[in-house]
Amino acid sequence: MPALDILCLGEPLAELNETEAGRFTLGCGGDVSNVAIAAARLGARSGVLGAIGDDAFGEALTALWDAEGVDRAHMSVDRDAPTGIYFVTHGPDGHRFSYRRAGSAASLVGPDRILAEAIAATRILHASGISQAISTTAADGVFAALAKARDAGVVVSYDTNLRLKLWPLARARATIREALTLTDVALPGLDDAALLFGVEDPDAICDAVLALGPKVVALTLGAHGCLVATPERRERIAAHPVRAVDATGAGDAFDGAFLTSYLEGRDPFAAARRANVSAALSTRGYGAIPPLPRRTELDAEITRDAASG
Ligand code: ADP
Repeated sequence: MPALDILCLGEPLAELNETEAGRFTLGCGGDVSNVAIAAARLGARSGVLGAIGDDAFGEALTALWDAEGVDRAHMSVDRDAPTGIYFVTHGPDGHRFSYRRAGSAASLVGPDRILAEAIAATRILHASGISQAISTTAADGVFAALAKARDAGVVVSYDTNLRLKLWPLARARATIREALTLTDVALPGLDDAALLFGVEDPDAICDAVLALGPKVVALTLGAHGCLVATPERRERIAAHPVRAVDATGAGDAFDGAFLTSYLEGRDPFAAARRANVSAALSTRGYGAIPPLPRRTELDAEITRDAASG
């Protein structure tokens, strides 16, 4: 039995959020770290793979993983490169993200730092487009990890998470499409996928993703729920009704819940119905991490929903 259920490869980030004019509150982010936390809260044995700097930001992330029960045995601490950070500022047009991540510890994790033993010690390896966008070294590191996962029979999960601030569309397209040929469970979002595949219809997007090889696609549709497809079947799942205040990180919440639920033996459709509720609950509070539901909360919401519906 592998030591972990879900190992998440990518860049953890420290967040500095201007919660009051001129005052910044320290928090944590980074898409795959958020997925690991979402999964741990639902009972999965999740871990993070990558690197942080030997600095206060890395320490904040370490304290968070320890508090959330996320394994960090495969997270190295780099003495010469910093933890990536981002600032959130708030203006009349909503919030604005400013990144300081070039040359970060995570961006230096290339193929030589991806150990087969680490990959073989998990049931699912999860990575994303952001994991590959941060540097060419990291892009190659992710490809090496996906190849090692396939060699070891580890399920590969991949969220397209397209960020055009990090790389041009042509390079993102080539890299992400190649990564999807090595993926078992694809977790794209509608806006990303429309740009990556040049089609907007959710069914056409699922066709395009399945044609690259994944056995399962769960396409998230924001406030419209999700569309789940396998080569044999597909199902549209309406959003779970909630009073949403902030959908930051809803995709990460979805991924963590989907993968946890899938590993518990549910088929992709049942796993997505559960993830759809979990992601909806995560939009009821501010930030990506604080409102992530715990298992008891998710189970209670599903029971309530069944009783009322
Ligand atoms: P991303 O963060 O990757 O852009 P989405 O915005 O597609 O992801 O949201 C992911 C999932 O979160 C959706 O599939 C849905 O389950 C849930 N979700 C997002 N916004 C809402 C909302 N307003 N109401 C209910 N559920 C939501």
